[in-house]
Amino acid sequence: MSEYKTEQKKLLLDFLEQNSDKSYTIDELVASLEASAGEAAPGKSTVYRLMTRLVGEKKVQRFAGESGRSFSYRVLADEHCHSHLHLKCLGCGKILHLDRATSDALLAQVKLVKDFSVSEEETLLFGNCAECRIGGKHG
Ligand SMILES: [Zn+2]
Ligand SMILES: [Zn+2]
Repeated sequence: MSEYKTEQKKLLLDFLEQNSDKSYTIDELVASLEASAGEAAPGKSTVYRLMTRLVGEKKVQRFAGESGRSFSYRVLADEHCHSHLHLKCLGCGKILHLDRATSDALLAQVKLVKDFSVSEEETLLFGNCAECRIGGKHG
């Protein structure tokens, strides 16, 4: 990899690590990087390529898109993120980590009732966090 690309990859990873409690689509990432890095920000095709590579390296987690949108991505803040479910607040965009025991119990129940094995790595449960509900924006 050229030095230039290494620099862009670092920029991207740094940004994701600073925002590890959020998930981004490629478009959102491109816009956020442009806002924070300006001219140095990688373009969309570069971001797409880098993200695909980071998913392969297990540094980034890819979620199926919400309501027909494209995939969203999030940096893997810890190694356990492959083995528990995540909740995403539609109000503030925050990602919550479900503990392993709750996650496993939930999935075991789904498997038992529907004989369906959920792909926990790709699944996001959408809703509203306590703060957003108290804020009165959502039911
Ligand atoms: Zn996690
Ligand atoms: Zn929220």
